[in-house]
Amino acid sequence: MESGPCYRLAGVMGWPVAHSRSPLIHKHWIDCEGLQGDYVLLPVQPSHLEQALRALPVLGFAGCNLTIPHKVAALGLVDHVDPLAHRVGAINTVVVEKSGSLSGYNTDVYGFIQSLLDAQPDWHADAGPITVIGAGGAARAVLVGLLDAGAFQIRLTNRSDGKARDMAQEFGPVVQYVPWSERHESLAGATLVVNTTNQGMQGEPALDIELDRLPLEAMVSDIIYVPIATPLLTAARARGNTTVNGLGMLLNQARPAFKFWFGVMPTLSPALLEKIHATL
Ligand code: NAP
Repeated sequence: MESGPCYRLAGVMGWPVAHSRSPLIHKHWIDCEGLQGDYVLLPVQPSHLEQALRALPVLGFAGCNLTIPHKVAALGLVDHVDPLAHRVGAINTVVVEKSGSLSGYNTDVYGFIQSLLDAQPDWHADAGPITVIGAGGAARAVLVGLLDAGAFQIRLTNRSDGKARDMAQEFGPVVQYVPWSERHESLAGATLVVNTTNQGMQGEPALDIELDRLPLEAMVSDIIYVPIATPLLTAARARGNTTVNGLGMLLNQARPAFKFWFGVMPTLSPALLEKIHATL
């Protein structure tokens, strides 16, 4: 297809990137919306990130997603960083402005919160205490989302205690550090638990957490999406908790990114879910 004013190009930069489901998601929306364009894999080594980002306007890209290991490094390479992305400390979406300058955004925050609302539309962050397990990169997007949604008490626990302590200090009094040795107790009275660690992912052991103290009304979210049902979610569902898998976050973070580049906020149709499920 010939490039022209109506033709939009976007992609995902990562290293490695072959496993990414983003092309499937965005190409589905390009087709559904009857748009002209494409979304491609961009395998870019870390040492080439700056060159690759600077090439986007020259190559006619509307922008790109960033995935492992580029999300943090790109903060210092784009021309403008959205304040929310600053707070998260990571960019997952780059937009090429009309001037050719690059703007960086973080849509993981939106994706995470929207995944909770999709699962339970009347969910409120201020319904009660929330426990967040893990203090890696993804935890930062989860914390910013929960804080902005109005959470008043977030208990943060991580295997490496120092990281959770530092993060709690950085994010202020709502985020309270809980020693890893007290993670089981931290579920008492919680209205939401979020696993942001890699424990339970394909190839990893289950997250070491006892659910006995968790109220049955609490929602349990695991941002992992391979597998769709982690041991944590399976155990939570078996005892009656509402569960949310990581697919919702993955799909919902893609929606505002698509809107930046293609001008349309796409929806999550059963057909798209079916396509994604077939790859998991
Ligand atoms: P990361 O920065 O490497 O953080 C990994 C986290 O897992 C850290 O808190 C780490 O604790 C913890 N961890 C690792 N091994 C552990 C163990 N044996 N026991 C307990 N905790 C352990 O990774 P990330 O980027 O935050 O990603 C974390 C997970 O989120 C991944 O599974 C990823 O696929 C998922 N994710 C999903 C989405 C989505 O759209 N659904 C988006 C982003 C990420 P230490 O600090 O002690 O090492």
